[in-house]
Amino acid sequence: MEKIKCLIIGSGPAGFTAAIYASRANLAPVLYEGITPGGQLTTTTEIENFPGYPEGVDGPKMMDDLRRQAQRFGTDVRSGMITSVDLSHRPFVVTVNGEQQIEAESLIVSTGATAKYLGLPSEEKFKGMGVSACATCDGFFYRKKDVAVVGGGDTACEEATYLATLCRQVYLIVRKPYLRASKAMQERVMNTPNIKVLFEHNTAEILGDESGVTGALLRNGQGEQTKIDIAGIFMAIGHHPNTEIFAGQLELDGEGYIKTVPGTSKTSVEGVFAAGDVKDPSYRQAIVAAGSGCIAAMDCERFLSSTSH
Ligand code: NDP
Repeated sequence: MEKIKCLIIGSGPAGFTAAIYASRANLAPVLYEGITPGGQLTTTTEIENFPGYPEGVDGPKMMDDLRRQAQRFGTDVRSGMITSVDLSHRPFVVTVNGEQQIEAESLIVSTGATAKYLGLPSEEKFKGMGVSACATCDGFFYRKKDVAVVGGGDTACEEATYLATLCRQVYLIVRKPYLRASKAMQERVMNTPNIKVLFEHNTAEILGDESGVTGALLRNGQGEQTKIDIAGIFMAIGHHPNTEIFAGQLELDGEGYIKTVPGTSKTSVEGVFAAGDVKDPSYRQAIVAAGSGCIAAMDCERFLSSTSH
């Protein structure tokens, strides 16, 4: 069985920053990219708030730069999914793509988080045919058409303003009587003439035919139903952490985020470290994820040097 000193799972800013630090510390890290190489930032257009990029940078470009930086110092970047882990003893046993097993002396978990959906059967039916969770990825298909965004947070506002540049009319469907997004994002939404905010509305059903989404049935606070005609609907209602394979092995919080010892990346299992959105329900920023990747690599290096004596 292949033996790895430092295995990193996930290829967002946390994973690649951990890889840069771990490779420079001679830990010969192997990084598995997972189902979305580059992570959530590859579904973003411009990142304007990452320090060091005064003109902004494209999400995919930044992830490509991070990958190349990690590889420059010797990180072995591999495509593939870690499908199960056995953390009951060290070295840990990790299964790749459901078949190949490898042993890892230490593990850095940076598997990130995934977009949530409403859970309507009609939503499932029209996924990829008008139902999306990424305006940047799919907005292009709805140029000059009417679309809706569900959610009232920063993501929803960001998606709505992005779509407003492409589409004719954007409905922002918000279940509360207010937006949860930051003031700056709220103002941007309110100042965009082709965004119509529908407060206190819930999506009851997504309508469509064999060509895809054609509309949605909305219900307001009084239970009244209205129909909007739209060609696409974008879910921006938050994320859930990608921790399914760690359930029952690592301590998780009520929402499934990995618990770490405050101020460190240490999880409930010695030798397993967590970094990025998988352990961060509140900040969820690329720069925070990158910083926590650095912490994880340093914690991991200290752990490995303490166990090798
Ligand atoms: P949030 O959790 O902040 O917002 C989710 C939104 O979806 C809320 O308005 C919530 O409503 C609504 N919602 C949740 N479930 C449902 C449902 N079943 N039906 C209808 N509406 C629902 O998630 P975001 O992804 O917007 O943001 C996550 C974090 O990332 C935040 O901290 C945010 O600030 C940050 N972020 C920062 C950005 C930036 O700085 N450029 C860009 C994007 C995100 P309710 O309010 O009623 O709970």
